[in-house]
Amino acid sequence: MSKKSKSSKESKNSKENSLDAERRVAVEAVLLASGLCRTVQANLVSDESMSKKDRSPVTVADFGAQAVVTQVLRQHFPDIPMVGEEDAAELRDSGNAELTSKVVANVREVVSGLEEAEILDLIDYGTYEGGGRGRHWTLDPIDGTKGFLRLDQYAVALALIEDGEVVLGVLGCPNLPVKAGEPDGAKGCLFIAVKGGGASMRTLDDAKESAIHVTEIRDTAQASFCESVESAHSSQSDSARVAELLGIEAPPYRIDSQCKYAAVSRGDASIYLRLPTRKDYEEKIWDHAAGAMVIREAGGRVTDVSGKDLDFSIGRTLRDNKGVIVTNGHVHDRVIAAVGEVLGL
Ligand code: AMP
Ligand code: MG
Repeated sequence: MSKKSKSSKESKNSKENSLDAERRVAVEAVLLASGLCRTVQANLVSDESMSKKDRSPVTVADFGAQAVVTQVLRQHFPDIPMVGEEDAAELRDSGNAELTSKVVANVREVVSGLEEAEILDLIDYGTYEGGGRGRHWTLDPIDGTKGFLRLDQYAVALALIEDGEVVLGVLGCPNLPVKAGEPDGAKGCLFIAVKGGGASMRTLDDAKESAIHVTEIRDTAQASFCESVESAHSSQSDSARVAELLGIEAPPYRIDSQCKYAAVSRGDASIYLRLPTRKDYEEKIWDHAAGAMVIREAGGRVTDVSGKDLDFSIGRTLRDNKGVIVTNGHVHDRVIAAVGEVLGL
């Protein structure tokens, strides 16, 4: 072995080892929160009296999952701040006492012994402004709330950012089929990636991990692509034009949440297109940090629509980027060229 390759391997291992504790704790936190979400969603199925328009179950799970993740992280890393999607302002409003008591009850089923005030403080811990200095977590307690309510896909997404760069990502996908080819088979996957350490998948119930990798497809005509179910979140008409330019014949794989990153990471599809629907929309860091880590470590690439790296160093949003393009790496430049042509960039 040459000196050069030995030293690069050593530095890779030391980076990996230096994040062992963070990885273990992040996995524990996401597993617990995924369990809470599953319980709330199971009650949603059984509660036939509930109106379809009632968003309160997802709200309970959203706040509850943020409290649970934060409690686990703070126990082990009390000084690392958190950019979380939620805050407790709504729950502190006396008009929402019923909602608050449901959140408290669900959290206590997973983490016993917490007072209501402690739970609200845990949720409010997510208000950190982020940025490029030091370390912070970022959490989307339920990414894909619309999917959750449709009893479809959603994700608990947690990442660690160090000096503006994502170094660890964990994605809990409680409804994702373990095998893409068996949609009615076992469900519930967890994706884990540490910078320089590769990406892996396990089920929610079994700790055994296997390495995952993107597809080897180089001819875009052979590729399939993922996009949002919600046309308000990504332009489906523009993606259809991009697909046509790339010769893609497979229909779009529409799936909510960062499960799209997971799908490309394990080779269910080769491309994920997130094309802006509005000029002024700023993507949120919690919607992409964990997924971006998993895709990179699985061998893929992630940029914005003009091919620029996502910049996680400037706060709670990706305001210097527009849209998101994820690929297996091999087809990235071709996809960016087609996106540029369609969007007139
Ligand atoms: P998805 O499940 O991929 O459709 O993405 C869900 C996420 O889309 C939510 O977590 C929101 O933060 C985000 N979102 C909301 N409005 C927009 C928008 N106009 N463009 C892009 N993403 C959005
Ligand atoms: Mg989200």
